[in-house]
Amino acid sequence: MMNAKILIVEDEPAIQELLAFNVMQAGFLALRAADAESAWQQIRGNLPDLILLDWMLPNTSGVVLAKQFRADARTKDIPIIMLTARGDERDKILGLESGADDYITKPFSPRELMARIRAVLRRHIPAMPDETVAAGGLELSPTSHRVTAKGRAIELGPTEFRLLHFFMTHAERVYSRTQLLDQVWGTQVFVEERTVDVHIRRLRAALEPVEMDNVIQTVRGSGYRFSINL
Ligand code: CA
Repeated sequence: MMNAKILIVEDEPAIQELLAFNVMQAGFLALRAADAESAWQQIRGNLPDLILLDWMLPNTSGVVLAKQFRADARTKDIPIIMLTARGDERDKILGLESGADDYITKPFSPRELMARIRAVLRRHIPAMPDETVAAGGLELSPTSHRVTAKGRAIELGPTEFRLLHFFMTHAERVYSRTQLLDQVWGTQVFVEERTVDVHIRRLRAALEPVEMDNVIQTVRGSGYRFSINL
């Protein structure tokens, strides 16, 4: 995963600097924050692919922040590696229970840190699901790249295909444009939010001939929802 963005949340400037240096040396992009508030600020502007999270932070601890990341729709799937000076087993379990994917004890060698980062990133490359999904007369097959609605073939572009796949596997929930960009376009791509509306329009237009364009619903002020309960 070249150019993966790594958010470093560490309040000690020297350690933050060392982490950023190692991350950049390895070819990743480093985003930095010194506390929970600035971490959320970074995330609002730039969704990271991985978070390096210090346990001991001012105000909000790393454990609490990890739980917040797991509870937020935008950040819940971002892998987290906890950094800590604590080495005992109970703390390790507490860190992992808070939602961290891995755990590294200070002082750590840069080599060990980079090996952990690479391993966690590899685990999180989204596997392309092969299963055919069906909902309300729609059927979508990722392997054959075919969509049928009420038994009729529907032609979709690749983005509309991915968008419909996401909606069908996440029905009855409202997603903001930002969330859809993160989930469908991916975190590596910079696309304007208006782009989402364009693809939603195309998707609806493709579903209109079978009178199913209303499964993609606009939720005013919030975003879009896929629903077959009309
Ligand atoms: Ca600290």
